[in-house]
Amino acid sequence: MTVRFELLAAGYCRHPQRVILRRGWRIMTFPSMFGLIEHPKAGVILYDTGYAEHFHAATRPFPERLYAWATPMHLDPGEAAVAQCAARGIKPEDVRLIILSHLHGDHIAGLRDFPQARFALLPEAWAAIQGLSRLNTARRGVLPGLLPEDFAARLQPLLPSAARALPPECAPFTQGFDLFGDDLLWLVALPGHAPGQVGLFVRAEDGLKFLIADAAWHSASYREGIMPHPLVRWLFPDARAYEATLLKIQAHARWRPETLIIPSHCEDLCQARVWGEARP
Ligand SMILES: [Zn+2]
Repeated sequence: MTVRFELLAAGYCRHPQRVILRRGWRIMTFPSMFGLIEHPKAGVILYDTGYAEHFHAATRPFPERLYAWATPMHLDPGEAAVAQCAARGIKPEDVRLIILSHLHGDHIAGLRDFPQARFALLPEAWAAIQGLSRLNTARRGVLPGLLPEDFAARLQPLLPSAARALPPECAPFTQGFDLFGDDLLWLVALPGHAPGQVGLFVRAEDGLKFLIADAAWHSASYREGIMPHPLVRWLFPDARAYEATLLKIQAHARWRPETLIIPSHCEDLCQARVWGEARP
């Protein structure tokens, strides 16, 4: 048994390549990719949503505006996750679960568009922003305006007690969460970039996928083991864990090259798999 998987993108931002790959002066595009999964029993599931128009409203006030100044986003009409679902005949209420890789605004801007969805995440992601000032919340890349009012009630935290041994093809990752207990979707903690970041192994019709969110920003990052610029690393809650995670992904890629590894913002992967001729 497998699931149907489609890789999509909703919006992008731009940053200098040097910050990420430590070489070149080109301005790179950072698409916000997300996964559309159709599970044989559980129905439609998203892994993140990418950007959505809600990002503008959520970054209008200060201090949240700092986030939009630091990473101005571009989103074409019809590109938000809800619109791309509609184009495939999927109504907002058909989406019953959204896996939140982490709570950064460029990953979850579309949550408000899916009123029936529950939100799967690691409890650390939510705990890390409790009791913070608005400024400190924004500094951690989280925009409260993107969270639906009933966000907390719709959370489906992945509790440590539910962790299981991962299938051997996920090596060297060993522990994870079998989302529906059917060996189709496995969540795995990818610490370092943001509290509670979680990746997803997908047994898709056309082979194993591994969505790694921001554990690497570009495929070259894990292939070559390139850590970002020290200034960027300084923003990470745990730069050592980030490096350890990156090296584990690299080890997986070398050991099992047939896995499609998907960093959410890799422009080359997005160009090849999502944008094609329509590149912005
Ligand atoms: Zn992030």
